[in-house]
Amino acid sequence: MAWVEFAFPRCPACSRSWAVSRHHGCPTAEAVGHGGGLEIDPDRSRVRCTGCRRGWGVWETRFHCSCGRRFEAHEVEEAVREVIRVASLLARVLTQQARDLAEIRRAGEVSFRAWVSRFTDAVAGSLGAMAGRVVGSLLRALD
Ligand SMILES: [Zn+2]
Ligand SMILES: [Zn+2]
Repeated sequence: MAWVEFAFPRCPACSRSWAVSRHHGCPTAEAVGHGGGLEIDPDRSRVRCTGCRRGWGVWETRFHCSCGRRFEAHEVEEAVREVIRVASLLARVLTQQARDLAEIRRAGEVSFRAWVSRFTDAVAGSLGAMAGRVVGSLLRALD
């Protein structure tokens, strides 16, 4: 089981998407100016907020795009399933390779970059446009 960033699915109005969804109406927004970032556990289809720590099911998620459009997970079912698929891949990679990666990083920055490059190629083959986002999340997770 692993939590990874919940990418914002493509907005049905403006077609934009982001690497991370934010919790609209998050109680912590008053203190820090924006809602917490959302994370997903793809195995259990659960979402949680890194700000207020609340959790809920993926399909109960409501999205508020910066263009003003509000939509629910089931309205963009295909996009949400893609987000879950990518999150699942990312979670698997993080879980299975965390130790390998720690060793690779200890071995030096060069071999780490070589690994990232191989991973990017592998992911790009199967995921296309989402690949850059997955790798971006992966790198952030490893920082
Ligand atoms: Zn939009
Ligand atoms: Zn929150």
